[in-house]
Amino acid sequence: MARTVFVETYGCQMNEADSEMMAGLLRHRGFSVAQSADEADVVLLNTCAVRERAEERIFGRLGWLKSMKAARPGMILGVTGCMAERMRDELVARAPYVDLVVGPDAYRRLPDLIDKARDVDDDPLIDVRLDRNETYQGVQVERAPGVSGWVTVMRGCDKFCTFCIVPFVRGRERSLPPEEVVAEVTAMAAAGFKEVTLLGQTVSSYYERGRDFADLLRAVSTVDGIARIRYTSPYPNDFSDRLLDALASLPKVGAYVHLPVQSGSTRILKDMRRGYTAEGYRALVARLRDRLPGHALSTDIIVGYPGETDADFHETLALVSDLRFDSAFMFAYSERDGTQAARTRPDDVPDAVKGERLQKVIALQESISKEKYAAMIGREVELLLSGRSKKNEACFIGRTSCFKTTVLAPGPYAAGDLVRARVTDATSHTLFAEAI
Ligand code: SF4
Repeated sequence: MARTVFVETYGCQMNEADSEMMAGLLRHRGFSVAQSADEADVVLLNTCAVRERAEERIFGRLGWLKSMKAARPGMILGVTGCMAERMRDELVARAPYVDLVVGPDAYRRLPDLIDKARDVDDDPLIDVRLDRNETYQGVQVERAPGVSGWVTVMRGCDKFCTFCIVPFVRGRERSLPPEEVVAEVTAMAAAGFKEVTLLGQTVSSYYERGRDFADLLRAVSTVDGIARIRYTSPYPNDFSDRLLDALASLPKVGAYVHLPVQSGSTRILKDMRRGYTAEGYRALVARLRDRLPGHALSTDIIVGYPGETDADFHETLALVSDLRFDSAFMFAYSERDGTQAARTRPDDVPDAVKGERLQKVIALQESISKEKYAAMIGREVELLLSGRSKKNEACFIGRTSCFKTTVLAPGPYAAGDLVRARVTDATSHTLFAEAI
């Protein structure tokens, strides 16, 4: 009888995509996918290491699964992903009942590791070898049917921002050949997907034998059946005129850019090794808005980075106030063992100050988002519907080209439909619309 596997995913879209890829790899080796951990022979937690809280949550979950494993001795319990890569033996020391610790570049070996873990009742198996070439080319991905899906087009990151653990747990940058990406997207279109998101830690740094991200966007835009193309996360320094030309000339590419800034202080950006200044980022946003009018813009912000003064923080507030992002992901600095910042800079901003600064920047952004969303009232938009609203079954949920979640008034629609509509109302995170 086929063994069953359940993959529980934590963290970013890259992890979601990796979980689909792991399920595909295991299905290919005769496993079937279980609907819950209770009924699975193998339970894998695909983890995130971006903040300490993310890892503590996993230990909480592992504690819970430990009792399930005690009741089902044959059950295999594994931890995969960034936390596995970062913690290695340390994870096993804290959770000795875990059978497998597998890093993001070792998934091709997962079926064999599971077989081995089943046969030997010894120490947990740890495979965290990073691989400069591994793109999982040719792996059949197990995607749940839907309107939107994703493809990981590049892996790893070479930027080494001082606060970030990603380069240490995901390895060096490498990209999937455009032909492989186009074949994957073509298969997704044939399976009914209407929207594809191209994934990478710094997706705009995509490069494969002379072809860059602009080339990739042009190639993916030729796939029939795909109505919308999205990408995340780009890196500010990659926005060349070549890329802006591509974004301006490819109508399938959504009118939305997520452009992480992290801080509004050039002094802090230098210390973070972000590779640009606050002035340079502001100039990029001006160029982007000039070349791509009507595009929505979101960002990432960290407050409380080591050494951040009140003056630095006020530069962040000023940048947020001046650039008026549509939305932002905002976090307090979380020291990560293994990063350059953790090794060389004391985490000297008190938690209370981090908390205050976080509340202030969130409140500011919330008021801007509210104004930005309200300014959409009366505007005409094109919605890609993803399904029915959970809050009101008669209504549909969709997204505009500029990535705004929209509730569409009842009508004869279906998931996957592209509907022209007029915005009738808004909150700071949702639009409401009627078809026209
Ligand atoms: S660009 Fe910087 S923040 Fe982004 S994944 Fe790479 S190292 Fe981390």
